[in-house]
Amino acid sequence: MTWEDNVRRAVPYVAGEQPQRSGMIKLNTNECPYPPAPGVKAALQELDWEALRLYPNTDAAELAEALADYYGIAPEQVFVGVGSDDVLAMSFLTFFHSGRPILFPDVTYSFYDVWANLFGIPYKLCALDEEWHIRPEDYMAVNGGVIFPNPNAPTGVAESLDTVERIVRANQDVVVIVDEAYVDFGAESALPLLKKYENLLVVQTFSKSRGMAGMRIGFAMGSPKLIGYLKNVKFSFNSYTMNYPSQKAGVAAVKDEAYFRLVTQKIMDTRKRAKEEFRRLGFAFPDSMANFLFVTHERIPAGELFAALRKADIYVRHWDKPRISDYLRVTIGTDAEMDRLFAFLRDYLSSN
Ligand SMILES: *Cc1c(COP(=O)(O)O)cnc(C)c1O
Repeated sequence: MTWEDNVRRAVPYVAGEQPQRSGMIKLNTNECPYPPAPGVKAALQELDWEALRLYPNTDAAELAEALADYYGIAPEQVFVGVGSDDVLAMSFLTFFHSGRPILFPDVTYSFYDVWANLFGIPYKLCALDEEWHIRPEDYMAVNGGVIFPNPNAPTGVAESLDTVERIVRANQDVVVIVDEAYVDFGAESALPLLKKYENLLVVQTFSKSRGMAGMRIGFAMGSPKLIGYLKNVKFSFNSYTMNYPSQKAGVAAVKDEAYFRLVTQKIMDTRKRAKEEFRRLGFAFPDSMANFLFVTHERIPAGELFAALRKADIYVRHWDKPRISDYLRVTIGTDAEMDRLFAFLRDYLSSN
């Protein structure tokens, strides 16, 4: 026996590369190409720096209240965490405790199986159909809980509120988590279902649509009972997760609805242009409701394109995994960034 036999072994989540060179084009981790709302800068500049001496509010109460206000729910229905990864990890720990397998799609956010393995939660993958849609009937089997993103990642495909409700309705004996990291780019939120289902948890983030990935702010919305259970586990783990500057910055972001609408609309407009351009260049893709497109070329393998783009300092995402190895996930950047991407692709495809 050595000390290493007593170590918990984990296979970590692999995040997209974060190189920072001037002139590079970074379309690989679905960040927002625009800065946060102007009020965020002001809030950080006006920060009471002497307050940093004190522990922050454990509930991020001011931020939870601002979110409750914005979404028309009660503050007891909001749980704030350090990015939605933190919120989701706490949710796995809290709600998937039955010993029965939880269910999620075979092609989805690759953190789900990492948390399941870390926490010893059994899981079963449900294959998406040929068009990358969820088959609701797969989620009617006995299970220990359900989680899926809507829109899904890395496909960008959104399910209707009807489909989401069918899954929630059939699973009222477990917790159903809808991960809405990309919902602000045109999909339907499951939020209205909170009035009907006590077992539904809707998780969102400031990382994609609010341009604040570096601040680490995520949140969950659900029934007061569900949120209460989540808080009990969080307060058994680490009470002071979200720092005071992040709480202040988050409040400022939520209060600027006009800027939020402007940025998300701009990204949707650029996405529309990008779809036309990709199509012209011989790419196919499922219709995306997210801030990225999941594209495959009729002729050139995705791995080859990925390497060529990377050499040109244009970063996109590629996975050597079953079903998706022929696809690239390309984040929607600014119009200028997309123009450079398409100029490179036009040139590459005409000479290869
Ligand atoms: C980006 C992402 C998250 C995590 O975002 P945070 O930065 O931790 O808030 C969660 N789920 C999905 C599907 C994502 O794409």
